[in-house]
Amino acid sequence: MNNAIVLGGGIAALAASYGLRQAGVVTACLLGGPGATALSSGALDGGQPGLAAQDVLSFCAELGLFAEPSSSVLVATRLGVLRYARARDGGILNVLPLAGRRVGIPRLPRLGWDADWLARSLNESPICAAQATVFVAFSVKVSFGEQASRLSAIDFSALVQQQREPLVGALRDASVVENLAGCLLPPACFLEAQQASEWSSELGIAVGETLSGVGETAGYRFERARNGLLERLGVKVHAGYASGVRATDEKVTVLTPDCEFSADVAVLATGGWVSGGVRLSDTNSVELSYELSATSGLSISLHGRPFSASAAWGADVGSLGLGELSQIGLLPLVGHRPTRIVAAGDASASGKRTLGAAIESGLAAAARLTAAFSETP
Ligand SMILES: Cc1cc2nc3c(=O)[nH]c(=O)nc-3n(C[C@H](O)[C@H](O)[C@H](O)COP(=O)(O)OP(=O)(O)OC[C@H]3O[C@@H](n4cnc5c(N)ncnc54)[C@H](O)[C@@H]3O)c2cc1C
Repeated sequence: MNNAIVLGGGIAALAASYGLRQAGVVTACLLGGPGATALSSGALDGGQPGLAAQDVLSFCAELGLFAEPSSSVLVATRLGVLRYARARDGGILNVLPLAGRRVGIPRLPRLGWDADWLARSLNESPICAAQATVFVAFSVKVSFGEQASRLSAIDFSALVQQQREPLVGALRDASVVENLAGCLLPPACFLEAQQASEWSSELGIAVGETLSGVGETAGYRFERARNGLLERLGVKVHAGYASGVRATDEKVTVLTPDCEFSADVAVLATGGWVSGGVRLSDTNSVELSYELSATSGLSISLHGRPFSASAAWGADVGSLGLGELSQIGLLPLVGHRPTRIVAAGDASASGKRTLGAAIESGLAAAARLTAAFSETP
């Protein structure tokens, strides 16, 4: 096998690209658009316990996004819930080492950021009681201007960078007065892992954000880290979506509206419903069927069976429920002869919908293709 093409811009595609490059395969990636990874919270869940496999740890280290991938972390949502995760994006505060200590939440002028309410809600959580952590809201004397609460996240983060010195000074003063061991900031501060660690050392306390809501900053940090890793790996990146994928005994052809690519193998990491990787077929028949966004001739399944639903009364997709919809995908071809197209991440019907599972399945797809086709001239 000489070359491979990976479809998708999420974490499964990135892990597959990483695995293929580690095996020395020339790899191209067709990115598509933002998918579930770009919408996720910044917490990494799922996968094998402890995500201990060496290749997963190496991948996370190369990506440079997820801190402490081999141990559990405790993170706070912006809606006032504390929860455990396997790892966190380095811009997010890990509350676990702050057990028994005080964590401050600054009153910052952001729509949807109510420090007093957030502190109360976190303090009421059973995990917080068990950890004996105390969250306290405090005021900072920094002028952000009257419009600050109405700015977009990206503009607010620019304002935070502009006001960095007075803000860090105000947080430092508060940390002394309030006897804080940590400081929890809104996602709109847009702290990269390195900035979070710089602020932490300047303040002498742990600083980081809550988890992101849908479409907030964690997804943006993933995309930056992804682009950096693809560049370092020497993966040729193409913008746009594939409209079809075909395999013969010798090669794979990926079609886009503008051109086509040929490769020895392909990884379909095109995601599920959320990213548009799986969609309703354009059909007028009574049976509704589902297809991948890149038509491949491979059949879509749910719970191991070919999947279709009655459309006699219209497309009642909602009746399936989100849980079911998210499980629609390609079945792994267990026991079949090696196939040149392998699914990974949410595009596969068999996996759990988590970042950890998507990383593992991307790496596994690369390993399977390398093992099956590495002898092919
Ligand atoms: C709102 C939300 C919050 C979540 N929170 C968490 C969390 O806190 N922790 C956790 O572990 N997991 C979380 N998940 C689940 C996790 O994000 C997903 O399981 C994981 O990101 C799936 O990665 P993936 O690479 O398989 O798919 P995706 O990230 O969806 O990537 C699929 C990619 O394929 C592209 N694509 C689609 N069709 C084509 C085509 N025809 N040609 C080329 N490219 C195409 C898409 O544009 C996209 O870039 C969350 C998911 C969502 C939606």
